[in-house]
Amino acid sequence: MEQELQLVADFDFDMIVDFFSRLNRQGPGSQQVTRQALSFIGELSDNAKIADIGCGSGGQTITLAENTKGQITAIDLFPKMITLLKERAIHHGLSDRISGIAVSMENLPFEPGELDLIWAEGSIYNIGFERGLREWKQFLKPGGMIAVSEVSWLTNTRPDEIEQFWNFNYAEIDTISNKIKKMEEAGYTPVAHFILPEYCWLDCFYKPMQENIPLFLEKYKNSKPAQQLVQRELDEIDYYRKYKSYYGYVFYIGMKNE
Ligand code: SAM
Repeated sequence: MEQELQLVADFDFDMIVDFFSRLNRQGPGSQQVTRQALSFIGELSDNAKIADIGCGSGGQTITLAENTKGQITAIDLFPKMITLLKERAIHHGLSDRISGIAVSMENLPFEPGELDLIWAEGSIYNIGFERGLREWKQFLKPGGMIAVSEVSWLTNTRPDEIEQFWNFNYAEIDTISNKIKKMEEAGYTPVAHFILPEYCWLDCFYKPMQENIPLFLEKYKNSKPAQQLVQRELDEIDYYRKYKSYYGYVFYIGMKNE
């Protein structure tokens, strides 16, 4: 694969949001995996406060609400995602437990020590794994829990081509053991981690994405930027199929130290 690399963020934001908001999820994951990560979180009370950061259109937010007690504040930078999340919460009869706010994860609207649980599926990379863990910790109660999924190397060495691809897209990608060390250094006790199965990428994320491409291109009348965005995503899928034994998403679950 010799194509020129482009970051998703190089494209027009409205077009990116339109492309991804057509999907049930905006990153690799599944209801089953959300529940698996939740199994490491202790019982929450009706008064528990949960933040779902980088919630997208709310794929995991509904699963979180269906399997926990307490109030969920879902956060995303883009108002369109929050609108979709709210529609979804109403559809599932969960709007009394889920509120949505369009704000940056760099400027969270919480009080120190307010939260019992911070959730971030496929989104902490936007602030960076290390920075997110450090900055968000202030909002957790002592003993509060954090669960984030993050792209990680699954092996200690890998081919140059995929190393270059990820160093360009997200230089903070690292091995699982180094990610866990970062979590410890940020002031958490690592509680569990697990690798997301392939179906979370191929069936739950990439397949619906590919199915939506014709409608997306039709809407943008096959414009060059729309075609380039599509090509960038198709290239990413090719990279995943070729190199999935070297990288994947990993759920990291930690507890804030007392
Ligand atoms: N958690 C969802 C899921 O797994 O389906 C969405 C994951 S998607 C890969 C990352 C999300 O982070 C997007 O919805 C994007 O709009 C949001 N995002 C990007 N930058 C952000 C920021 N600075 N603050 C809050 N959300 C942000």
